[in-house]
Amino acid sequence: MDGRKLIMKKITLTLAVLTIHLALFLAWLWRRKRAAELKDEALFSQGHESYQGECPICLLPFRVDLAQSRVNPCCVKWICDGCILAAHERGLGNVCAFCREPIPRDDAASAALIQKRVDAGDAKAMQLLGERYFFGLHGIQKDEVRGIELLKGAANRGSPEAQFNVGVAYASGELLEKDETKAVYLFEIAAKAGHPYARLNLGLIESTKRNYDRALKHLVIAAKMGEEVSVTNIQSLHRNGLATKEDYFQALVGYQQAAEETKSDQREKAKAYFQARRGSA
Ligand SMILES: [Zn+2]
Ligand SMILES: [Zn+2]
Repeated sequence: MDGRKLIMKKITLTLAVLTIHLALFLAWLWRRKRAAELKDEALFSQGHESYQGECPICLLPFRVDLAQSRVNPCCVKWICDGCILAAHERGLGNVCAFCREPIPRDDAASAALIQKRVDAGDAKAMQLLGERYFFGLHGIQKDEVRGIELLKGAANRGSPEAQFNVGVAYASGELLEKDETKAVYLFEIAAKAGHPYARLNLGLIESTKRNYDRALKHLVIAAKMGEEVSVTNIQSLHRNGLATKEDYFQALVGYQQAAEETKSDQREKAKAYFQARRGSA
């Protein structure tokens, strides 16, 4: 009898231990699921407005590709061509349309100004100089390694543009060791900050994994910021029965509205003016 009692006690104890372990395991699973849900909530609820914002002078949003706008090294602020032409027309062609500092006389002076800001740890300047080295722009000798180092520095300091570019380098594996996890991580941070192309890339990556619901969510956000390739991709999801007609229609209308908001008579005038100047140059 004592022996049976002892066995029963052991069984009860073992069951109790197992129950505790099961409860701990379920709690761990729940916490993991909840963490993933919270991560997704942040990923899909943030970054619906483009991080590029609007021209600080005319207050109209920029195009997502930043075409018809430029950045001066004095203040590292993007300004639209419409406002640059307006400044030219007022006889202020030799100073920055935003901060009124003199425009550097040549590429070397421009690079020196940006370098000064880089030395002070300015993320935007780091990103700008990084791109100039990476692509060999504005008289700077192409140096991809130096370019990517500067871009990494800018990405660490929170530049969405640099995060996107470094993400692309990890995804392609051409300059940095291929690492899709790092690429997605950077695209996610940039997308949450409102980077349209990082959002597009997340949509395309989810599409290749056949996670079409998640792909559609990303692509719709990018389309509504005015990103065109996303609209084409939503159209193809719709053609393949993976998005509804309503999804496609809403994305298209959102894209058209965003694109329309970037237009103004002054910007159209500047487009014609700078195109004619380039043509005659
Ligand atoms: Zn403007
Ligand atoms: Zn300036």
